[in-house]
This record gives sequence, structure tokens and C-alpha cells, in this order.
Amino acid sequence: MRFWGLLIILIFFVHNVFAFSLVWPSMGKISSRYGGRYGQFHTGIDITDSKGNIVRAAESGEIVFIGNKKALGKAVVIDHGDGFRTVYGHNSRIYVKRGMRVKQGQKISKMGASGRSTGIHLHFEVRVNKKHVNPLQYLPSR
Ligand SMILES: [Zn+2]
Repeated sequence: MRFWGLLIILIFFVHNVFAFSLVWPSMGKISSRYGGRYGQFHTGIDITDSKGNIVRAAESGEIVFIGNKKALGKAVVIDHGDGFRTVYGHNSRIYVKRGMRVKQGQKISKMGASGRSTGIHLHFEVRVNKKHVNPLQYLPSR
């Protein structure tokens, strides 16, 4: 009986680790990576785009925040459960509402240069239990 208990725990753990696999919120070029830059820590990645500047949900979830965050401008936060959240900053238009459920790949906003931004781009962040992590860890390589 003990074996089955351990097996169930193992399956649950593996499921949770692999359940969180993202799609790219935009196919634009990465203009800035996660980590230290100019003496500051960049808490996400920046992606530029040219074709329609559409931003897509990296994973299915619930919209838990829409509004202005100082540096991030017009921002969207999606909660994916299990402590996982994704953040999308510098938008010019937002197509979703708070409390809405979105599917992976669904159009959520249009990127812009709102907040502290030098040009049109998306600031994309992944948070695990409220701590930001390197999004590239969860995005498919390309
Ligand atoms: Zn950024």
C-alpha cells in the first residue's frame, strides 16, 4: 500500500512540473533578456514585434489583474494555478477583463510603449509563488 501512495505522490509531482509549459506570447525578437542589466535586475524578457503587435496568453488561466503598474504601464496578469503567474507589460490595448478565463494562445492585448519604455515591446514575466523566474526556462526553444 505504501508503494501506491508514493507512486501517486510521484505522478502528482511530475504532472505539476510538466503541466506548466508555455507558448510564446509573441513571435517577435527578444530585445532584452532576464537578469542583470545596467546595474538593475530585469525581472522578465522583452519581446519586440512588427506584425500587428498581438500579445497572446502563454498558458490558460484566469485574468487576475488589469491596470496600470508604474514601470510596466498597462499590464495584464494571468493566474495559472499551482502558484504560477504570467505578467504582460507595456500594452497599448487590452482585450480581456479581470475574472475572465483565457485559453493558451488566446489574444489578450496589443503591445505598446506604456509605462517606462523606450519603444514598442512586450515585457513578459513568469512568477512562481510570487518570485520571478527566467521565462526562457518554460518557453519552447526557437
Ligand atoms: Zn522588460
